[in-house]
Amino acid sequence: MLTLALSKGRIFDDTLPLLGRAGIEVAEDPQSTRKLILATNREDLRVVLVRASDVPTYVRYGGADFGVAGLDVLLESDAGGSGDGLYRPVDLGIARCRLSVAAPQGWDYPAAVRQGARLRVATKYLNLAREHFAAKGVHVDLVKLYGSMELAPLTGMADAIVDLVSTGGTLRANGLVEVERILDISARLIVNQAAFKTRAASLAPLVAALREAAAARSPAC
Ligand code: ATP
Ligand code: MG
Repeated sequence: MLTLALSKGRIFDDTLPLLGRAGIEVAEDPQSTRKLILATNREDLRVVLVRASDVPTYVRYGGADFGVAGLDVLLESDAGGSGDGLYRPVDLGIARCRLSVAAPQGWDYPAAVRQGARLRVATKYLNLAREHFAAKGVHVDLVKLYGSMELAPLTGMADAIVDLVSTGGTLRANGLVEVERILDISARLIVNQAAFKTRAASLAPLVAALREAAAARSPAC
């Protein structure tokens, strides 16, 4: 039995068509069931539903053989870049967004940086934010949040945020603007290193099928 780790929402919704193109149907809809283990039309494959930020953990420690995780989650959980226990063979090109700095409209971020001001920045991506500002030589105090990052500048708790942006609609709705793009994000297929070797006969064809499905969907990546 192979186990694929997915998170509910964007990642699940965008992965489903790729699985479909690879001939795989998930038996149940995560929105209408409380089950965390979902069967598929293949007897040798099941899907487990975990938090987005837990997908690399499940795959690294063998709770799942493979999974789909955003590059944001992968880089943040592996700040040193050693990638221990994981292969990242395929950029699936789905769940695209970018990691950016955003600040209240009218606040002059470049000027604050030029003047060497010490900025307070709220984010859930402490490691990625620390690396970004260190590389620019900007002094920051980072404040860890788990959600609703947009609120931090509005309440005066922070000067800026580092967060994911796709359409920019959420920022706009809260009077914020994107002032710096840090990193382009898409979701990656990740595979447990040991499973990749010991279960190659069943895993390799699946990885190949998903690679083909992703390429057919977006030739650019
Ligand atoms: P949780 O809801 O469990 O705290 P999460 O908020 O990171 O986790 P999602 O919002 O489903 O979960 O996001 C999962 C992944 O989807 C992100 O890690 C990112 O790679 C991708 N993604 C694409 N666009 C966006 C966006 N606009 N906002 C957030 N995530 C996005
Ligand atoms: Mg979310």
